[in-house]
Amino acid sequence: MNIVVQKFGGTSVRNLECQRQVMQKVLRPYREGNKVIVVLSAMAGETNRLLELAKEWSDNPDPAEADSLISTGEQISCALFAMLLKQQGVKCRSVLGFQAPVRTDCAYGKARITNIDAPKLKDILQEYDVLVVAGFQGCDDCGRITTLGRGGSDTSAVALAAALKADVCEIYTDVPGVFTTDPNMCSGARKMDRIAYDEMLEMASMGAKVLQIRSVEFAKKYNVTVHVRSTFSDEPGTIVTQEDESMESVLVSGIAYDKDQAQITLVHVMDQPGVSAQIFSPLADQKILVDMIVQSPSKDNLTDMTFTVPRADVDQTIKTLEKLKYEIGYEELTHNLNVSKVSIIGVGMRNHSGVASRAFRALADENVNILMISTSEIKVTCLIDDKYTELAVRTLHKAFNLEEGNQKE
Ligand code: ADP
Ligand code: ASP
Ligand code: MG
Repeated sequence: MNIVVQKFGGTSVRNLECQRQVMQKVLRPYREGNKVIVVLSAMAGETNRLLELAKEWSDNPDPAEADSLISTGEQISCALFAMLLKQQGVKCRSVLGFQAPVRTDCAYGKARITNIDAPKLKDILQEYDVLVVAGFQGCDDCGRITTLGRGGSDTSAVALAAALKADVCEIYTDVPGVFTTDPNMCSGARKMDRIAYDEMLEMASMGAKVLQIRSVEFAKKYNVTVHVRSTFSDEPGTIVTQEDESMESVLVSGIAYDKDQAQITLVHVMDQPGVSAQIFSPLADQKILVDMIVQSPSKDNLTDMTFTVPRADVDQTIKTLEKLKYEIGYEELTHNLNVSKVSIIGVGMRNHSGVASRAFRALADENVNILMISTSEIKVTCLIDDKYTELAVRTLHKAFNLEEGNQKE
């Protein structure tokens, strides 16, 4: 049984006309005799609408009920699309997360897939040629509905491709592939033919929402080739795959930004062993992703600890740390929501110096102040005032000649 996995995002399924275009993409592998797993997102804007409803109903929506609510977006697109396909005489049905089942842990709102029942899905595929699977959702061991975090349908698709050993996982979206930066922000952005898993992982974790981070982790771990391409054209997109030599000859491959960030500072904590663990362990226990961490030089054995968290987690972070104020022993907690992260990414940086200084110079020439800096082997990240995000992205894109492709000098 040859299985093709295709995922279509929110803008691709937003109305009947778009779903008809999606249908043409699905009918192609179907007519070639393949079994097709179609993973769908909710119609564009629907997940946000449902989240707003939850906020209207409750100041602090119960996480399990919130998941039950927001998972309905995908249920709607799947049921409607299956109707459309059936009308064409295709043997198909919709499959919700709990029906597949896609098993997850019980971290509502950001659940992780623990298992997919591949034999059961293959059984269902004996009877049907196309399964329209709801992305973004699963169920925990208690049978409650969970969701996988924003953009989670990408992860559903790659996990299904891995479990069913599909040759490739096609991610159809509203842009023709992965670009050197967000093409909707920078007109000079260039489409990449191929990108290495590690680079894509950094791009995604630094905010390039074209793929959810977890989907790239899955793809890398299970060696699934991912093809990111447009629903609305036939041109080939970007292949996300193993790194090879030609990729390494590029110094910087992309610029990513993330506006969903918040900066938190604990003023005057004791500079002594165990303090970092006291601050960050309770946050990790709640699965809050702390990213950049800077500890200022200590004076009189006191230091300031500054770090970033996703903006959505800021209230929970503050609440948690305020409860521990006397245990940790800090003087004051301040936070800043008007920040964004801009990152330069490239596997070629590993053996090349000077990337960071070139970036700092370019930002300085535009008068963009850098609040925090962090680096890894293949990335440099700057935290800046979010009103300069667009300027910083365009400036860095230009500084590294990404429009033309920047081979190492
Ligand atoms: P979908 O609803 O299909 O999942 P998303 O909105 O989640 O689509 O992701 C696609 C969007 O990602 C694009 O419209 C684009 O604005 C944004 N994006 C950010 N960075 C990049 C990048 N480097 N390459 C392509 N798209 C990017
Ligand atoms: N509908 C969900 C979201 O908007 C999941 C997805 O689109 O991938 O985040
Ligand atoms: Mg998406």
